[in-house]
Amino acid sequence: VIIVKFGGSILKSGYDYLRAARIVRSLVDEGKKVIVVVSAMKGITDMLLSFGSRSASDILGTVKQRYFTSLEEIAPPIDPQLVDIVGEMSRLSSELTKALWAAKVLEEISPRVRDYIVSFGERFSILLMSAALRKVGLKCKWFTGREAGIVTDASFGDAKPLHEVSKKLVTDTLGPVLEEDVIPVVAGFIAGTIEGTVTVLGRGGSDYTATLLASYLGAKEVRLYTDVPGIMSIDPSISSDARVVPLMSFDEAMELAYLGAKNFHPRALEPATENLIPVRIKNTFSPEKAGTLITRHEPPLLSRIVKAVALIRGVAILTIEGAGIVGGASRVAYEVYKAMNEAGINVIMSSQNASQVSISLIIPQNALEKAVSYVKRATEGLEGTLRIEVEDDVCVVGVVGAGMRGTPGVAARVFSAIAREGINIRMIAQGSSELNISFVVKETDGFNAVRALHREFRLGEIS
Ligand code: ASP
Ligand code: MG
Repeated sequence: VIIVKFGGSILKSGYDYLRAARIVRSLVDEGKKVIVVVSAMKGITDMLLSFGSRSASDILGTVKQRYFTSLEEIAPPIDPQLVDIVGEMSRLSSELTKALWAAKVLEEISPRVRDYIVSFGERFSILLMSAALRKVGLKCKWFTGREAGIVTDASFGDAKPLHEVSKKLVTDTLGPVLEEDVIPVVAGFIAGTIEGTVTVLGRGGSDYTATLLASYLGAKEVRLYTDVPGIMSIDPSISSDARVVPLMSFDEAMELAYLGAKNFHPRALEPATENLIPVRIKNTFSPEKAGTLITRHEPPLLSRIVKAVALIRGVAILTIEGAGIVGGASRVAYEVYKAMNEAGINVIMSSQNASQVSISLIIPQNALEKAVSYVKRATEGLEGTLRIEVEDDVCVVGVVGAGMRGTPGVAARVFSAIAREGINIRMIAQGSSELNISFVVKETDGFNAVRALHREFRLGEIS
């Protein structure tokens, strides 16, 4: 059994569903049993989430237009093979219409209602994927996440799967379908409580759906099809030397995902890592290419010390410093982190000097103002003087590779390469996992910094 997931980035039209279906067809022809997981079409989740700032009719119009046009691209509407799908599409449309108008009339979008509304992106998508699979001659059956058996708690927006029940339900539901050589088409990202209330797993959650299903069913492999050729050694828009990283460990991939991906679900690789299920990142436009294989750390295969470099832009440094604080650095750190948590601000990176109190945090640029006011308030009562300083024209450079662990001299190479470029380093952090060295430079130095490192570690060359 392999789980194949098609992301929203590659689902822009009906032709994209057909391309995906042909990939599934070739896997089936190779004798594999396949479960297909799909995201919503590109842009649809954002569209549905904009409810509240955008009008109900606007959203409804776009969502319907995108999905119905795509269905026509897959097959003419009178195609007798698709009567049930067309019927289901219409039923979903009126369900969404009712939901949006009800929420509008009540002028209330609770997290629960939001999850329900946002679920339509994936619910339409499984129908289109089913239509495309039938067009390429495959038998399939569609499931929402909850219908497939994924049960979560009721933390709407970011629900946590309840593994024990889910595992049993998923096995009982999808097992027999696979037995009959029918392909389950499962909606990514959406799930439900035990009572059946719709929940979602958090942004980027369809990768998580795929790895969860794989772990529940003991699948052989997870394949994530996307619009890039694999995990890249550097952002190709920054360097034309960018190369696909053929092999990565779970740890490295997770590290890089946090550094690079906006929509990466933080728990997506967890089920695969725990159950040692290999994950392949592949491109839909060239499915014959190997892409990136993420697997268990196999030292002989992981010959490269550094695998990839990444740049995080749109960040700011917030520094809190002062001497003679009663309670010292840990007291300040406690107040500052508590404040960030209360403000709902994600701390991307942090470092603390060993001397006096000086704690620097990297946070999103657009959260800077809020962060300053929360920190001010939180540290007001502390005895001693604290200064708050900010810099908003910086970026984070991350160097990732499990081979750095216990290898002396990697940091020296990193910083020498940066020094040769005449770039000044503003802040440094290396966790004791030693998988990643991150540092902060001026925003204007960011591109040069990652390019210099890419060259230093020869990441553009075939290993
Ligand atoms: N459609 C969801 C999102 O945009 C889930 C996903 O695409 O993975 O976050
Ligand atoms: Mg994604």
